[in-house]
Amino acid sequence: MIARAFAALLLCLLASRPAASPEPLKSGLDLSSLDRSVRPQDDLYRFANGAWLQRTQIPPDRVSYGTFPELTDRTELYLREIIENLAGRNATERKIRDFYASVMDERRIEEIGLATVQPVLQRIDSIDRTQALATECGRLSSGGGGGPFQASAGVDARDTRRIVIHVSQGGTLLPDRQYYLDTDSVSASVRRAYVAYLTTIYRATGRAEPEADAANVLELEVALARAQTPAAGSRVSLAHAQAFNLRELHERMPGFDWTAWAKPQGLDRAAVIILGQPDFFSAFAKRVEDVPLRTWKAWLAARYITAISPFSVKALHEARFEFFGRVLTGQRAPRARWKQAVSLVSAHMGDAVGRLYAEKHFRPASRDRIERIVGNLLEAYRQAVNEADWMAPPTRGHALAKLDRLETRIGHPSRWRDYSQLDVRPHDLMGNVERVQKFDNAYHARRLARPTETDHWFVTPQTVNATYLPWRNEVILPAAMLQPPLFDPDADDAVNYGALGAVVGHEIGHAFDQQGRRYDGSGAAFDWWTPADHQSFLQRARLLVDQFSGYGTGTNERLNGQVTLAENLGDLAGLAVAVRAYRISLQKKDPPVIDGFTGEQRLFVRWAQLWRTLVRDEYLRQAMLTNHHAPAEHRANGAAVNLDAFHSAFGVQPGDKLFVAPKERVRIW
Ligand SMILES: [Zn+2]
Repeated sequence: MIARAFAALLLCLLASRPAASPEPLKSGLDLSSLDRSVRPQDDLYRFANGAWLQRTQIPPDRVSYGTFPELTDRTELYLREIIENLAGRNATERKIRDFYASVMDERRIEEIGLATVQPVLQRIDSIDRTQALATECGRLSSGGGGGPFQASAGVDARDTRRIVIHVSQGGTLLPDRQYYLDTDSVSASVRRAYVAYLTTIYRATGRAEPEADAANVLELEVALARAQTPAAGSRVSLAHAQAFNLRELHERMPGFDWTAWAKPQGLDRAAVIILGQPDFFSAFAKRVEDVPLRTWKAWLAARYITAISPFSVKALHEARFEFFGRVLTGQRAPRARWKQAVSLVSAHMGDAVGRLYAEKHFRPASRDRIERIVGNLLEAYRQAVNEADWMAPPTRGHALAKLDRLETRIGHPSRWRDYSQLDVRPHDLMGNVERVQKFDNAYHARRLARPTETDHWFVTPQTVNATYLPWRNEVILPAAMLQPPLFDPDADDAVNYGALGAVVGHEIGHAFDQQGRRYDGSGAAFDWWTPADHQSFLQRARLLVDQFSGYGTGTNERLNGQVTLAENLGDLAGLAVAVRAYRISLQKKDPPVIDGFTGEQRLFVRWAQLWRTLVRDEYLRQAMLTNHHAPAEHRANGAAVNLDAFHSAFGVQPGDKLFVAPKERVRIW
């Protein structure tokens, strides 16, 4: 596996050299991944990826593998190389180096042992009344130390010029409430393993009655899980979110000292707090007096230990991996220490590391070509909006106006964050994590004061993900997304439209879907759909729900077409618009046949190759519960079958497995 990863890396480095003489562009397809015994008309995904699926094994430290994990692995190698070779030219570089060194210095971490952990555990154990419990909940939340509900600053959906505090339900450590509530044997054995995990960490930290505490904590969390809103409904249930001030919280949700909880996090200074699921919080508050304090203390201790164990002694670190890695996701081996170090430094000094990454790995020359692709995608959307018969003419006007104002950010920001006030020490990992968290909180608090500041990027350049921010009407394409196979500067454009084009088209699509309809072109809250638009949109969406609900999940269940709807719509929009944009780019010229494929065939094969994925069973189960995306093979085939262009590119006929009759194809754009 490792040898292959390096080979791929080498190929890519070679490929990125400028060509010596003008040669015909390559197709950019991974031909070695095709399975020619499968017809694309029957299964585009297996035709494009069959050989790859056959020969590839999931690396032991991964829970799934495919294009995006591969890109992440490659980016991690780049970052490691950058960080380990830092000369320390300035204070920021020295901080990156010291932060990284503090993760790598495992001997020092063992020497420190539990010396920094025990004082917090003693503080938790000294809780003697429910008010102190609330204070400690707030304290742990403020420092990223495992508090029960995470508060985050976000844009007020009703007034996007305002930043407000959102708090979501929580209090449970398993990935989804179903793990607590399902009665099948797998869920029961996960719960047993969870109790064993709690017992292990309690014992390792010297708790008096580890078994009894572990059992009580599970019972408490089962009750909390019962009060939670199902994750499947959480997107829909955004509508249930409600704003409260502290007085209202005390009045309407008695039992929990909300002020004591808010103070350590500075939430007492916020005018209102938005609770994502008010029913959950009211049920939680009601339980506070009913459950013995001893159980609450054990519950908080488990949360704290689990949060800090990646930065602490081996015994805790390993216990965490055994349960959250091996049992819950099927991961076979922990990630190498250097990978953990890269992730942590990259997460907390993201702009500093990202700047070095972008300098080295983002080719400024690519920017023009990417801008051209994005320009054609916007033009394609313009055409599609004009043709969309489900929108009333005034609605189309709003959509076009919004499209005109859409911003695309490519590669990296031009202004970088300042780390001069951050204190980093080479032999103090836990201290570094605490300090960096405080530093981040202060940074975000300053941003709260200036919500309209626009030079801040919400994503770092080394992030392998594209994002659309509705309240800014902005698509972000970080540098790490702009490498093969998403964007290949040396390939003919067809594959770039099939990959980058479809992905950007997907993101732009979120500007015009059920979420995007609530914001105008400036990002201000404004619903520009009429009830009639909504009805005809729903009619089309329902067809897509039915289509995806007909697919299997790989775990003998049916896919939930409703939960994955927004993302499936995004894929359909993205792919449809990518085809249009590709046609615009051709300016009526016939594209060459390369490697035996026409231009549009290459576009569709690359689209399907983008989704090649292997997933461990344990992780698949978790993903089905918590993920809003359909499994990869259905994303690949499910979007393509709705397009006339797919049928014509491969001559798909009645009788072929992927044939869908023209009047049954779902057409949004
Ligand atoms: Zn999406």
